Amino acid sequence: MPIPLVDLKAQYAAIKPEIDAAIQRVIGNASFILGKEVSEFETNFAAFCRAKHCVGLDSGTAALHLALLLCDVKPGDEVITTTHTFVATAEGISVIGARPVLVDIDPRTYNLDPRAVERAITPRTKAIIPVHLYGQPAEMDPILEIARTRNLRVIEDAAQAHGAEYRGKRAGTMGDIACFSFFPSKNLGAYGDAGALVTNDDELAARARLLRDHGRRDKYEHLVVGYGYRLDALQAAILGAKLPHLDAWNARRRAIADYYTELLTNSAVVPPYVPPHISPVYHIYAVRVPSGNRDGLRAHLKSRGIETGIHYPIPLHLQPVNANLGYQRGDFPHAEQVADEELSLPMYPELSDQQVEMIAEAVRSY
Ligand SMILES: *Cc1c(COP(=O)(O)O)cnc(C)c1O
Repeated sequence: MPIPLVDLKAQYAAIKPEIDAAIQRVIGNASFILGKEVSEFETNFAAFCRAKHCVGLDSGTAALHLALLLCDVKPGDEVITTTHTFVATAEGISVIGARPVLVDIDPRTYNLDPRAVERAITPRTKAIIPVHLYGQPAEMDPILEIARTRNLRVIEDAAQAHGAEYRGKRAGTMGDIACFSFFPSKNLGAYGDAGALVTNDDELAARARLLRDHGRRDKYEHLVVGYGYRLDALQAAILGAKLPHLDAWNARRRAIADYYTELLTNSAVVPPYVPPHISPVYHIYAVRVPSGNRDGLRAHLKSRGIETGIHYPIPLHLQPVNANLGYQRGDFPHAEQVADEELSLPMYPELSDQQVEMIAEAVRSY
């Protein structure tokens, strides 16, 4: 039996009655836009994050765009973020007409390097977007300290990190505002596009609610120019059915990761490094394959029916869409090396120990 990178069908099979009941409830009530399903999920997801507010949106990309608007990022401003991430992290910055200022990563954690953030600050810097990449929180204390002393906003890109912890604090509660994605393959995934903003700030949450729904105060009165960024009630109901399982799913991901790391220590690949004060949720289990062997190992695993991924082969500073930013190959050597060496092994809570053993054995036999 082949082993996929993620297996969304296995998850549905395990919770089918709950999901089907949630979908039937929404269709039966014909209440598809906002309403009880959305507000209940918002309350429950805020509680899960241990945050005050959650505002449901139609994607993580919309969350990043809104977060920047809420932090008053304007054309010509600069926003610092990592070059080693999914393209959406920096898209909102460019859409506003602000400048993404990219920085290199810490070669051990693959998250943005706080010292590089400090060096990238200019008088035009308005905000920092740390990404909790692969489900492992970025090194937040020094980032928050830099932001505090320079009066900058911090927007967490927590799209891969639902439930991850940094010094006991959950991802999404450390900056001014945090962005979550519920893209189907994320640790908490909808059956389509969905996302959310999380914040402890009453005013930011109120403005986010206004902006996601056409600047609407009530049915017919609109206060400001807004967006159609609402979370679907159907997706909210599905997410609400899944949320009670999330802590257990994340715990299983951690157990799988620990087992992989045990089986792959002293092999040809470098397992993830996790600082002791961090509890990741392994959206992705990423290994590094040094000495130009990544693509060969990938083909070897494929021949044994094991699917792998690469997150991400092209860093943002080398993406064609960002050519106008003027970066060149060689600007961020750590990120470039990880782009060439990273390999994502199958990771989903339903993966069995026996499958993990088969995958590790296949890696060792290369
Ligand atoms: C998935 C993801 C996003 C975008 O989320 P969508 O819901 O797909 O728009 C943003 N940032 C990171 C790091 C992601 O992994």
